[in-house]
Amino acid sequence: MENDIALFSELCNELFEQEKKQPVAKLIPSSELYKKLDLSLNAEGLVDEQLKESLRQIIKYTPKTASKSFFNQLFGGRLNKATLGDLLAVMLNNSMYTYKVAGPQVGVEKQIIKNICQLAGYNPESDGTFAPGGSMTNMMALIMARDYKNESVRATGITKPMTLYTSIESHYSLSKNAAMTGIGRNQVRFVHTNEKGQMSATHLEELIISDIKEGYEPFFVNATAGTTVLGAFDNIEEISKVCKSHNLWLHVDGAYCGSVIFSEKYKHLVRGLEHSDSFSVNAHKMLGTPLSCSIIVTQHKEQLHHSFSNEADYLYQTDGDEFNLGKTSIQCGRRNDALKFWTLWKSVGTNGLEKIVDKQFKMADIARNYIKNHEDYTLYSFEESISVCFNYKNIPAKELCTALYENSELMVGFGKFKNQEFVRMVTINSLLDEASIFSFFETLEAFASRKMLKITTT
Ligand SMILES: *Cc1c(COP(=O)(O)O)cnc(C)c1O
Repeated sequence: MENDIALFSELCNELFEQEKKQPVAKLIPSSELYKKLDLSLNAEGLVDEQLKESLRQIIKYTPKTASKSFFNQLFGGRLNKATLGDLLAVMLNNSMYTYKVAGPQVGVEKQIIKNICQLAGYNPESDGTFAPGGSMTNMMALIMARDYKNESVRATGITKPMTLYTSIESHYSLSKNAAMTGIGRNQVRFVHTNEKGQMSATHLEELIISDIKEGYEPFFVNATAGTTVLGAFDNIEEISKVCKSHNLWLHVDGAYCGSVIFSEKYKHLVRGLEHSDSFSVNAHKMLGTPLSCSIIVTQHKEQLHHSFSNEADYLYQTDGDEFNLGKTSIQCGRRNDALKFWTLWKSVGTNGLEKIVDKQFKMADIARNYIKNHEDYTLYSFEESISVCFNYKNIPAKELCTALYENSELMVGFGKFKNQEFVRMVTINSLLDEASIFSFFETLEAFASRKMLKITTT
């Protein structure tokens, strides 16, 4: 093992060098991947020197998500203490299902959940768990809501069509989860949004009332704290009133920006969160922990057990349900996603997490101001969002982003809101600073003037 740790260290040093020298890895077109790299698996293994060379090649061409040129996704950067925690989790290799196998790691996970529940303003009896990503935590919310409405579903399956409500700007996992949980895609109602991408509580209620009339059973409303494209926050307070009056489970999908609960300055964006039934947040997005780290908490602790526990005498042999986390998780064997977040949190404190969150909003402000002050740009996104959406000189966003990627200039994506397509720059890497933001625009402008003018349309 010592040799491989040394090798790991050596490869990491090379990676750090490359992140600086070639922050956007040279693209291998997918059609040439197997020609360019030897990824074959063969009867005979490689000796260490060859293996090292093989790994170096793969690392070299792998997109560098921690580099200063990566603005493409809702994660990015590398917070070293979180990475340290994750490396330790790999070395320890526990499975989180029982106290017997995970020991103190169970406490690590429970402590995070307890603190998140407090920050969300949830009742002291609340509980939660970790799942492999926000799509999964959203699915867990949906399952709990389904079973909460109709306990017999777990045994009989769905007998009467149940409807759920989410905005057209919400994450695609809502539909996918409806398909996977037996609710059905046709029972997903897409609520209109206002000009800022926030769900309309009025339209929500109209849809609910009309479904009840038609004999459907409404059961679940999803509000989004940070929509995937614009980073818009639904008005939880208003939506929760509609939910209360129709007795519907309210889930808040905070995968992207639920971490504003850590910020005095921005937690008003999730005002009313304490009225929700469940809340999910991805620490691998705004809190910069390695993928994946998604947490769901609920004020209905018993529902977590009802929906996800199963007797298994071969597994649960000591310590009771409270410390046997397999009783509330979707998986059986489960990776330790808690230690990385705990290590980060422990090292920087809650105040440090607040700074991480605030920094991203500050950088978004800097980017938006830049855009507003330069007339070649058009801005589409709003204040208090870390998605900065814009177009430059009327160059089609898709072509600009793809050309920047193919020429190893910048990693940035595009999105769409109400038929308008634009570049979406995400300022989620809290290690970046003002200079990195300016450098992004400089690179984009220099590139556009060199390469793009010929495809400019008006
Ligand atoms: C990213 C995201 C998800 C999905 O989370 P994964 O961890 O990628 O599965 C769900 N909802 C929103 C709003 C998101 O931004």
